[in-house]
Amino acid sequence: MTDLDVAMICPKCDSRDVALVHVAYSKSVRGSEWGISESDFAYILRPPEEHSVIFWPLIIGTLAFLVAAGMYLLMGDIVGTPRNFLDEQTRSTAFRLGRWAFSTTAAIRCLLAIRFNLYRFPHQFEFWKNQVVCHRCSHQFPSTRLATFQQKTGVNS
Ligand SMILES: [Zn+2]
Repeated sequence: MTDLDVAMICPKCDSRDVALVHVAYSKSVRGSEWGISESDFAYILRPPEEHSVIFWPLIIGTLAFLVAAGMYLLMGDIVGTPRNFLDEQTRSTAFRLGRWAFSTTAAIRCLLAIRFNLYRFPHQFEFWKNQVVCHRCSHQFPSTRLATFQQKTGVNS
């Protein structure tokens, strides 16, 4: 779809000062290369990103490790049989539990990231590519092909 296919008018304020989001985005990012800091505007218009298959699974997996091991070590307070970190068996059981929590959580997050990147991301990116932004009121709306626009409004130009 080119710019010319798009009905270039804002449904909110009727301004014709609108642009495809990805065009406006690359313009404002190019501006930042000239020493102008990337504006809030560019931030709002930024494209969707793929999820990291490694980074977040590792972070969340590590958290799961700490939580599982920590909960096991505190278990003594809950069930009444005291367990402490000096006890060799408690330490190794806590570690095994933590490692299990880590690998399970990391594997699940990894699969979720892959699923997102394969199935959801392309749709989000396609949606982003077709969004139009109004320079006057910042309203974002899906682009309408000119033919559809004319059909709806009965305008032939
Ligand atoms: Zn507008």
